[in-house]
Amino acid sequence: MGGVADDDKLDRDAARQVLRRALSMAAPFKRTVAAALVFVAISTLGVLLGPVIVGWGIDSGIDDGDRSTLGRAAIAYVVVVVIAYLAGRQQYIFVNRAGEGFLRALRVRTFDHIQRQSLGFFDRHQSGVLISRMTADIETMSELVQWGLLQLVAAVFLIAIALVLMLAMSWQLTIAALLVMPVIIVASRKFQRDSNAAYLEVRERVGQNLSELQEGIAGVRVIQAYAQEGEQTRQFVRSNRSLYRSHVHSIRVSTWYFGLVEAMGVVASAIAIGIGGWLVGRGDVGIGTVIAFVLLLAQLFEPVQQLSQLYNTVQSSAAALDKLFSILDTEPDVVSGERDLERHGDLVVDGVGFTYPATTTPVLRDVSITVRDGERLALVGPTGAGKSTVAKLMARLYDPTVGRISFGGVDLRDSTLSSLRHRVVVVPQEGFLFGGSIADNVRIARPDATDDELREALDAIGALDRFSEFEDGIDTEVRERGSRLSAGERQLVSLARAALVDPAVLVLDEATSSLDPGTEVIVERALDRLMEGRTTIVVAHRLSTIRGADRIAVIDEGRLAELGTHDELVELGGRYASLASAWDRSLPTV
Ligand code: ADP
Repeated sequence: MGGVADDDKLDRDAARQVLRRALSMAAPFKRTVAAALVFVAISTLGVLLGPVIVGWGIDSGIDDGDRSTLGRAAIAYVVVVVIAYLAGRQQYIFVNRAGEGFLRALRVRTFDHIQRQSLGFFDRHQSGVLISRMTADIETMSELVQWGLLQLVAAVFLIAIALVLMLAMSWQLTIAALLVMPVIIVASRKFQRDSNAAYLEVRERVGQNLSELQEGIAGVRVIQAYAQEGEQTRQFVRSNRSLYRSHVHSIRVSTWYFGLVEAMGVVASAIAIGIGGWLVGRGDVGIGTVIAFVLLLAQLFEPVQQLSQLYNTVQSSAAALDKLFSILDTEPDVVSGERDLERHGDLVVDGVGFTYPATTTPVLRDVSITVRDGERLALVGPTGAGKSTVAKLMARLYDPTVGRISFGGVDLRDSTLSSLRHRVVVVPQEGFLFGGSIADNVRIARPDATDDELREALDAIGALDRFSEFEDGIDTEVRERGSRLSAGERQLVSLARAALVDPAVLVLDEATSSLDPGTEVIVERALDRLMEGRTTIVVAHRLSTIRGADRIAVIDEGRLAELGTHDELVELGGRYASLASAWDRSLPTV
């Protein structure tokens, strides 16, 4: 519980700073907010003028027997109520416009910022957490910007005006009625403390409950495979029970406080009526004034309750904003340089060491390899040796911690990101497919490509015929994550993306999972065509890929252990040689 509380609570200064920054971001909505404030003022005034008119009507109209004044008072009352109603409606519209506009801008800004982050950012932030920033935290804030700010302004305004009106009517009555204030102040402080703790508790339980729900649904196959449905439900029942308890507790905290404030309101009215009656008896004030006073008092206590509640909303919004700002303040690790990369050149890895973000152990040490223009290099080695890491660094998904990587003599750090992503393309093991057609998915690599270029790219890797057999051809919908396509077809889409960009250097992470033999041949042929005439670095798992490479780099425990052609390395009699002889024994037909 402690951890969550620390996480969700900011100290006063930090909260103030965060809110000030949010306010500066709300600048574009200045006019809308100003309009909202005008309507808040009008509707609040309307609410407060009601009792004053009632007092005037009773004292001047009924007590003094002046019928025309009574009529005027009745009409004025109706007019004021109608104006207050209309202004109240407008204030909601303007406040929501400003609030929703602010949230929309914040959402877009955060999404855009996340999209631009380097891979290292996603090592440090889990996707689930990022999604909750964009949903739950923005939701928390919407509570504040939608009605919280409105209530805050309205409540402060209402309390101030009500006090002025009450003092103007009778200072003696005002002081007498406000005798209950110390009780309310002490109770409000206690309520703020207790309800904040209760709120954090509920929030934590909701989080737990949600993650259990998510795991239960995502993992349902595994759960059913081991017949653990009952156990899962029992766990869920337990977490649901604590969620229920914390909800009930938080409602208890609210009810005693609201009950108390209401009771104090009644006590204040009783005092006002008692003392008011005595003052009427002495002829100091009229009955109408006392009635108006009691009606005003009734208006005073609701905003006091609202302000206490608002305190929590402001606190949790500040915490949510703080988390969002920490994301918005993260600069991408991989930044664009000034120089465009030439089409041809050697890819030189020079004394490179690398440690992943948020970790301390280096996974690569002192790796130096020169990949010549047009060369095909296979990276081999045991799982976890660092092969994929070398590949990711060559494509500048990360920058090396030590040493440098250059292409055509230009340090990748100095290259423009746009030319880099044109010259060097990474084809991951499993390319992600988005909703849409096959053509849409290939076009993601270069949205400005013409239909002909698209077909050429598919044809270049020999995939056009395959997809043309589909009823809708390349306009076939792939469905969610490409579930309409087979694993091999998904790989073809991913290779066609690379072909569309037509890069000088290809970095491939060869799929470890095997395809059915028929599809495998098509994918391999597509790969061969794609690699033709390009520098290729492939994290290789298949013997045929390794044999087809010009040179082989053996990576072991983050170091370059051996480098050479197949024959040279077999001759060397080292690690590669023993791997190769193991392959020969287990796969005599290859
Ligand atoms: P290989 O491709 O040879 O199987 P990798 O290059 O994927 O090996 O991984 C090398 C080491 O780096 C492994 O110990 C792995 O656990 C670690 N590693 C890989 N990716 C990350 C990451 N994003 N964050 C932290 N450590 C990682």
